[in-house]
Amino acid sequence: MYMRINGVEVPSASAEWRDVMNPATGEVIDRVPDGTSGDVGVAVESAESAFQKWSEKTTRERGVLLFHAASMVRDDHKHLARLLTMEQGKPLREATDEVRGFCNVLEFYAGLSSQPAGDAVRLGSQGDCMVLHEPLGVCGAIIPWNMPVLIMGWKTAPALLAGNTMVLKPSTTAPLTILSISAILEKAGLPPGVLNIVTGSGGSTGEAIITHPSVQKVSFTGSCATGCRVRELAGSCNKDVVLELGGSDPMIVMDDADVQKAVEGALRGRFYNAGQICTAVKRLFVHQDIAGSFISQLKVRVESFHVGNGLDPQTEMGPLNNLQQYDTLSGIMKSVKENGEGTILTGGSPVKGEGYDNGYFFEPTLVGDVAEDSSLLTGEIFGPILPVVVFHDLDTAISKVNRSPYGLGTSVWTRDLATVKRVFQDVHAGIIWVNRHVTVPPEIPFGGTKESGTGRENGYRALHGYTRTKTLFLGW
Ligand code: NDP
Repeated sequence: MYMRINGVEVPSASAEWRDVMNPATGEVIDRVPDGTSGDVGVAVESAESAFQKWSEKTTRERGVLLFHAASMVRDDHKHLARLLTMEQGKPLREATDEVRGFCNVLEFYAGLSSQPAGDAVRLGSQGDCMVLHEPLGVCGAIIPWNMPVLIMGWKTAPALLAGNTMVLKPSTTAPLTILSISAILEKAGLPPGVLNIVTGSGGSTGEAIITHPSVQKVSFTGSCATGCRVRELAGSCNKDVVLELGGSDPMIVMDDADVQKAVEGALRGRFYNAGQICTAVKRLFVHQDIAGSFISQLKVRVESFHVGNGLDPQTEMGPLNNLQQYDTLSGIMKSVKENGEGTILTGGSPVKGEGYDNGYFFEPTLVGDVAEDSSLLTGEIFGPILPVVVFHDLDTAISKVNRSPYGLGTSVWTRDLATVKRVFQDVHAGIIWVNRHVTVPPEIPFGGTKESGTGRENGYRALHGYTRTKTLFLGW
């Protein structure tokens, strides 16, 4: 596939290409241009040229277009979901959910287009004020490989509805579905140059987007290490950034929890998308009074999981997305085994054998008796490994939960309102779920504290994040 700049398919000025692989089979499924900073320059110019006309449309006109685009993406969801599975690895069911999730985000923001934007303030004898929210101009978006389509929606929908234009860089390992969707948005009527997709590595195209003087704001999702670099670069040019970074979300299961529901919550929370979600359950804290029965039920369910190619309808968990992920997780488990950092309750190794040898398959894994200084508890484990910690009182659980440098999400599983109140008040996180985990609908703000990032996506407030306020003071 080609990049999409100014509504047309283009190769890179470098004339170089990058292969995109299916992580389940090791086969090359397509290739994309290896973009350069020069390509970013062309994309930004096209976004700048498109800005005036796009921003002059009414919000309602832009909303109508987004509604129409969502419906066209829905019509093509089967093909898009299949492509997403092939480049990302996730089961087809999850890929379908993700494509539909993208449409939901577009529709949510399109729905906001009928709301009045801005305020009028009366100041008595001094006069009256009109407060407007103007679009910023050209915005940048940098997308990871784990939920590329959904995250594309989180960034493009509010930015475009607010009247901005955009240059977006997908991850090198999952650019294809994003390119296909942007072609559909153009068919739906998005004018050329409003959304430009530049493929290529983060070090070249990503940094070029952040540092380009005409890019007004950058929204980034990815690792904390890259997030620090993005913050540094954006700070050096005094640019606004949203950083959605890593997490090590705890799930706290109290002794009064509905155990069966919580077991299913832990399964979905940890093993959906092979655990490669920033808000996945990455540390499980179980009250000692129910720990025995909870852990044995969870182990039975984990051991029955069908790991395989995401295109196989039986598959419940696909491969990891890339070799780096595979090597990182293999290295973590090697260290856990060699240094006695915990007891492996099930799994713990790559999956090998016929049908698995060319893919990045890893066993769904549970680890108990985890050492407090193990990277399973102190770092972000971006894959299907779940450390289980047994606790005897909520105070201890909260203090362990807060020891992490991350603060993205937390869930508590309980029937007791006082417990909910305590967790809500004392746990450092951007979102607290009760008897749920991972669900992030477009209606609610999403983002973290501490090393998990700054700024929020989703919800109506994210729309304001893509505007600047301008006030007209009328001194009659
Ligand atoms: P990165 O943070 O490296 O990548 C995310 C995006 O940023 C990609 O598009 C990447 O491009 C781009 N990028 C990389 N370097 C730069 C840079 N210097 N300037 C601008 N953009 C850049 O994540 P990885 O994909 O490498 O994954 C590594 C780890 O990050 C995972 O194991 C996980 O821990 C974490 N992660 C967290 C996510 C989350 O949602 N919180 C999502 C994905 C990963 P390129 O395609 O070249 O890599």
